[in-house]
Amino acid sequence: MRVVVVGAGQAGASLVARLRSEGHEGEIVLIGDEPVPPYQRPPLSKAYLLGEMEEARLYLRPESWYAENGIELRRGARVNGIDRDGRTVHCAEAEPIRYDALALCTGSTPRTLPAAIGGDLTGVLTMRTLADADALRPLMAAGRRLLVIGGGYIGLEAAAVAAKSGLQVTLVEAAERILQRVAAPVTSDRFRALHAAHGVDLREGTGLERLIGDQGGRLTGARLTDGTELELDLAIVGVGIAPNDGLAEAAGLDLENGIRCDARCRTSDPAIWAAGDCASHPYEGRRIRLESVGGAIDMAECAARNILGQEVDYVPRPWFWSDQYDMHLQIAGLNQGWTDVHVRPGADGAASHWYYAGVRLLAVDAMNDARAYMVGKRLIEAGKSPSPSAATDPATDLKTLLK
Ligand code: FAD
Repeated sequence: MRVVVVGAGQAGASLVARLRSEGHEGEIVLIGDEPVPPYQRPPLSKAYLLGEMEEARLYLRPESWYAENGIELRRGARVNGIDRDGRTVHCAEAEPIRYDALALCTGSTPRTLPAAIGGDLTGVLTMRTLADADALRPLMAAGRRLLVIGGGYIGLEAAAVAAKSGLQVTLVEAAERILQRVAAPVTSDRFRALHAAHGVDLREGTGLERLIGDQGGRLTGARLTDGTELELDLAIVGVGIAPNDGLAEAAGLDLENGIRCDARCRTSDPAIWAAGDCASHPYEGRRIRLESVGGAIDMAECAARNILGQEVDYVPRPWFWSDQYDMHLQIAGLNQGWTDVHVRPGADGAASHWYYAGVRLLAVDAMNDARAYMVGKRLIEAGKSPSPSAATDPATDLKTLLK
């Protein structure tokens, strides 16, 4: 059986590795449009952007690993069509590639700002690829004036790196508060205070009216919705991502917030699977699409096993992390639908925020508190919900909650 994987990122690399570790001996072709081997993206807005990590350390596996494991890695190759009847995929400058099973691991693309408000000016950047980070890194020089548009995790991480590097940073968030889509107010409060302490001018409930450029098309400033005008050298746009589902759509596969998969990571074509940022899945009576390393790995490994006929369900076990300054945030679970959040103070300024829907524990945001994260994750995965008072009483030894 020949398995072809489109997209050589986190999910694609995990999927081919799992195929081999499960004993698949057939051909595997991994096709990616980036020029480098599969790599991890999280450090791009953290240690790599700060200049504290070498490029080779981003690679998920050494370059030689693919050939050593009989995996044909085609880099710099973009798949632009799928012929489902003929079971082939098409790249611009190559013969059609035949598959018995096809996996779509195409990831996502950052949303950009329209040219009408200056989104196409030189000096306006997004953050997704190694090439993006390499373009940004030399521009992060002390004294430069940066506007970050969007107060989600990527925008906040970029702001943290910039502030640490000595830039003058303004961050605008059009919603009422930073992290509004992903966290409770108490978590937003903590990150607001953290950024303020590092000199970031953080403006919530304030949008961007437009970016301003000079005659050469270079960014020089911005006008905000509150009427403020800023002089700028650089802007980073962090306003979310869209799943890369165009290839699937053109091939006639079902879409629903990304490529629609069943509980086994299979698309509406039984010979095609999908995993990672591009795919949505059923979860507790609704449909979710996770944008995280953990989600990409779990889905990819599940898809690999199902390609080999094991018939296993994908059970989402969401987890995520973010590093800003000396704050290591770890998140376990999915907080959607929370009704109450309880705070557990930790030692030396650490804390964890426990999200409940009624009596059910949904998620934990742990800040510099690895133990709260670990215990919270195990509780959520086991479907256990300690009482909020027990969970958040600093006198409770968290491990006793697992019994
Ligand atoms: P990707 O890793 O994006 O891989 C998809 C690949 O497919 C890309 O290389 C793309 O170019 C390629 N591709 C797309 N279409 C085609 C085509 N037609 N032909 C060939 N190739 C194609 N997650 C966390 O859990 N924690 C974090 O702290 C965190 N930080 C992040 C920081 C940044 C800056 C970014 C960008 C993401 C971060 N994430 C984080 C998210 C995480 O990196 C993604 O969820 C994960 O990479 C998704 O894996 P994927 O394989 O679905 O997509």
